[in-house]
Amino acid sequence: MDLLEQIYLAGVIGAGGAGFPTHHKLTRPVQWLIANGAECEPLVASGRYNMRHSADQIVAGLEAVRQAVGRPRCVIATKAKYGSETEALRSAISQAGVPAEIRPLEDFYPVGDEHVLVYEITGLTVPPGGLPLDLGVVVLNVTTLMNIHQATMSQPVTRHLATVTGSVAAPCLVDAPVGATGDDLIRAAGGATVSAWAAIQGGPMMGRVHSAAAIKQVDFGKADSALIVLPASHRLVGFYDQPYEAQLADAKTACIQCARCTDLCPRFLIGQRIRPHRVVRAVNRGGDSADLVDALACGQCGLCELFACPQGVAPRQISRQVKQQLRAAGRSLTDVRVRSAQTTDRQNRRVWQSQLIERLDLADYPTALDKVVRLDPDQVIIRLSQGVGSAARPEVKSGDQVKVGDLIGWVDQSEAGALVHASIDGRVSQVTPAVVKLESG
Ligand code: SF4
Ligand code: SF4
Repeated sequence: MDLLEQIYLAGVIGAGGAGFPTHHKLTRPVQWLIANGAECEPLVASGRYNMRHSADQIVAGLEAVRQAVGRPRCVIATKAKYGSETEALRSAISQAGVPAEIRPLEDFYPVGDEHVLVYEITGLTVPPGGLPLDLGVVVLNVTTLMNIHQATMSQPVTRHLATVTGSVAAPCLVDAPVGATGDDLIRAAGGATVSAWAAIQGGPMMGRVHSAAAIKQVDFGKADSALIVLPASHRLVGFYDQPYEAQLADAKTACIQCARCTDLCPRFLIGQRIRPHRVVRAVNRGGDSADLVDALACGQCGLCELFACPQGVAPRQISRQVKQQLRAAGRSLTDVRVRSAQTTDRQNRRVWQSQLIERLDLADYPTALDKVVRLDPDQVIIRLSQGVGSAARPEVKSGDQVKVGDLIGWVDQSEAGALVHASIDGRVSQVTPAVVKLESG
């Protein structure tokens, strides 16, 4: 069986972002293979833990992929401040004799964004709306590489490591089965320490806010690496809770066209054609405009609205809406040329992680986490679509008994989706086209 088939059968998807099915990334020879260990969301530390404690598996996964995609140049991107992680990786590389170099990067946001990372490592700009693969580059998160190594031993992805922090009694990393709920994760971290709270599924910059009541039923999947509990009065909760209509109204009255959002936009700074201030202006004016189409190149990093804008305007949310409308209308980027990033004074426009944490009012919460709590809940809700692509089709029915690792959702290898497996032993209690619920016993 070849590596692609092993990865497909294990249901591996990108562990650090949108959950792209990994076997679809490795279909042709490339010139660069980059392991992404430059986790950049504030407070999130799951990848760091895996680099410290499972470096040998990460390097084994990297070598398996390197052999499968034409033996390209191999780089593991970490951060200069990751001393013990880099040491563990160095030792694993040397023991395995793998020709990989480690590139420690500076601690700015969003250094772990695929497009920014490709620019940092190769000096190449991914075309707006394109993929690193268009340049002969494959980027894989370090946790994904670990999962690839386990796939070579026929172990499907049934668990994940999630950072649970913020206003909780015992911030920690939770080793959870796929499909554990937000409620389970928060309880594993000792429960919330404030009476009125909300929770972010994912990192503070790119995650989704849920109310305390809603998070109880939110399932956490293979690509979910964090849950952050914040007081309901926290500025991030207030910002994310604002309805889109209110954000549009704010943009009309408050945007002063200072262009600071564009000055700091990481995609603009690597030479892509995205100018959020112009997107906001075009939306404010109404009608069609070439500037609107540029929103398709937005990477949704959130820097423009959560750090750059002095007026509380939300260029990212506006770009997201514009993107949805353009895609629904079948529009695509007409100009995918890139500029020279040298013209943007990029070095002086980086936003350091420490600045971001201060600005987001997150300085009181811990970031360096080394305590792991294993979670084994009585029930899980497993989504049949764990990331981008088609949902898997249920392979079980109510009343079936399953064991950890049994296949419960199927897609063909050629489809843009990933297989789904049982994450606990037990009985299938509910099956819908979207989820399979399992109860232990
Ligand atoms: S930073 Fe804010 S105020 Fe300035 S142009 Fe962008 S959206 Fe408008
Ligand atoms: S969210 Fe804002 S800063 Fe980030 S890529 Fe999009 S426009 Fe640029």
